[in-house]
Amino acid sequence: TPILFWFRRDLRLGDHEGLSAAAKTGRPVIPVFIHDEVVETHGAAPKWRLGLGVDHFAGTLEDIGSKLILRRGKALDVLRDLIGETGAGAVWWSRAYDPDAIARDKGVKEALKDDGIDAQSFKGHVLFEPWTVETKTGGFYRVFSPMWKSVRGWDLAADISAVSELCAPDQWPSSDKIDDWQMGAAMRRGADIVAKHVAVGEEAASTRLATFIRDRIDGYKDARDQMAARGTSMLSENLTYGEISPRRCWHAGWRAVHEGKSGAETFLKELVWREFAYHLAYHTPRIMDKNWREEWDDFPWKDDERAAEIKAWKQGRTGIQLVDAAMREMYVTGYMHNRGRMIVASYLTKHLMTHWKVGQAWFDDCLIDWDPASNAMGWQWSAGSGPDATPYFRVFNPATQAEKFDNDRSYRARYLGELFKDHGGEAEDYFKAIPKSWSMAITDDYPKPVVALDEGRQRALDAYQQRKG
Ligand code: FAD
Repeated sequence: TPILFWFRRDLRLGDHEGLSAAAKTGRPVIPVFIHDEVVETHGAAPKWRLGLGVDHFAGTLEDIGSKLILRRGKALDVLRDLIGETGAGAVWWSRAYDPDAIARDKGVKEALKDDGIDAQSFKGHVLFEPWTVETKTGGFYRVFSPMWKSVRGWDLAADISAVSELCAPDQWPSSDKIDDWQMGAAMRRGADIVAKHVAVGEEAASTRLATFIRDRIDGYKDARDQMAARGTSMLSENLTYGEISPRRCWHAGWRAVHEGKSGAETFLKELVWREFAYHLAYHTPRIMDKNWREEWDDFPWKDDERAAEIKAWKQGRTGIQLVDAAMREMYVTGYMHNRGRMIVASYLTKHLMTHWKVGQAWFDDCLIDWDPASNAMGWQWSAGSGPDATPYFRVFNPATQAEKFDNDRSYRARYLGELFKDHGGEAEDYFKAIPKSWSMAITDDYPKPVVALDEGRQRALDAYQQRKG
């Protein structure tokens, strides 16, 4: 009987444990993608980008004589329908590790097993499954460095070669058309403009990894912080949708270490930050939407009073150049430099004393590399409420950050059209992408700061001190 292979965040043929196992059985395999209850909750840009990934992957499967069946509905209902239509005796998938996906998968697995179906999951989009990494005393890691030290020497199995053939069923079940799903419907920011910045699919991801290893990994340690340079791998977008496996990145990173490329170990460490995010999401699901440190629950966030400033933050017109440039980078490209993410998150949670969840929600809506675990951890790290976080009293100063990481102003010039005559095309695209209701024009005067940097900093520190009593 056929195997239904349920794809989620694993849109690739290469180094794919579950799919390889399915192919090896010699049984017919019916690849399925479901626009399900978890996908329904995605923000605008991630949903749009997922749609591009699914569409592209459907083409990849066609190239090997297979097909991606698209259906919409509650995952369990859809799978049961497909079992009824195809006579499939098995449903296999790659595991996910964030609480929403785990809850869905657990329910599906139990119900299908009760139906007598072979419901099996395989290792998914991490290097180290969260329950396989333990502290010396048998708990989970709350701090990054010891986790890194414990996993850095792990000998991961070799990459699995790409699936090149899948046995087709006698008859294919019907499939929705992806265009009918309108996955870009909420993308009110000129999807065609953001589309210039995406690199969709397995081949694009492999090229990204190869060029990064060849040209940039050596200098990565320093270049990764320079905001105008493309010093990083840009692989987050592809890792998010499983267009490349983290294991391939890991092996490529280790090969570079052995070739003496000096930045390679830093790259491996960053990959483990991603692991740490899933480790925490799995062991402490509250990190996703509640202060990881409960003592933060009584912090006097001022979101209600700061509605105008929050709007300015989202729109990239706080009057703080580096913050605005980074916010505009995200809006117009779907990506934001890591240093930008730290700076705008510090600014929102400290200078504007706004709850990190406000920022998290905006990132959920705007990022094409949106990852539920890394985004939650990143925000709680920045706010000070998370594990191994930067302390609240360490307030990033955007002016000093600009001197260090955008010294020649080229990053700011790329995005701030009102201020720099030699601005980049992205600055013009930004004004094309934003909604009319924002009433912003490239010919406007650049805004004055919504709060002076020293005043905002002091206000945050005072609130922090008072709370400590
Ligand atoms: P590289 O520097 O090339 O790093 C390689 C890979 O390591 C990345 O692709 C990513 O998978 C991982 N990585 C690097 N830094 C981190 C980190 N700090 N935390 C977790 N993983 C990391 N990353 C996301 O993928 N999705 C998000 O939604 C996301 N939200 C964030 C929100 C905030 C407030 C902060 C501070 C960080 C967030 N990050 C997120 C982490 C980081 O900014 C991005 O992973 C990184 O900028 C991606 O660019 P890159 O692929 O070129 O990274």
